[in-house]
Amino acid sequence: MSSCDQCGKPALVNIANHPLCVGCYALLQQTETAKLEASNDQLRLLYAHQNHVTAEMDWMVGLGSTTPRINIPAKPSAQYNTIHSVNVQGGSTVGAITTGSAQSIAVAIGNTEKQGNTDLAAALKAFTDALANAPVADDQKREMAEQLATLSEELTKPKEARRRAVIGPMLDGLSKAVGVSSGLVSLWEKLHPLLTQALK
Ligand SMILES: [Zn+2]
Repeated sequence: MSSCDQCGKPALVNIANHPLCVGCYALLQQTETAKLEASNDQLRLLYAHQNHVTAEMDWMVGLGSTTPRINIPAKPSAQYNTIHSVNVQGGSTVGAITTGSAQSIAVAIGNTEKQGNTDLAAALKAFTDALANAPVADDQKREMAEQLATLSEELTKPKEARRRAVIGPMLDGLSKAVGVSSGLVSLWEKLHPLLTQALK
């Protein structure tokens, strides 16, 4: 098992030849999203300026507002903008956990931190790091990561969009599955109530 080249925890993904743990991956995702949001904001300003110049020219020649204007897209709502906007190039998986699962968990950690629920973010990080390193068969590990990823996706959605029929069985499934490793059991005991509370 390789370790994160930023902090030494078990690595989950490999981005441009840097093995990264879930926490460092979450930080990278947040940085990428912030970069993208900043450049979109600049484009919005640029378009607004262009619309202003066009309006001025229409006014000078006395045409009224006849020239088509750029329809400036609104800023996406904060709850949705992280999950689809990030696509780190060259990502590959280290070990059994797929990049898709790692990404969903990393996005949830980033969002949870942003919302100020640092206990949950820390518990999610600790559990995922332990899972990456756990002496558990690959297919079991992958399955647990998928369940955690599904819960992470629900966590990232606004309350009214969450699928209650998915959350309950996933929480129960993980509660059973962690039994294969005592280290995972104790970390799950911390994560489970925080996750349940946040997913209410
Ligand atoms: Zn790290």
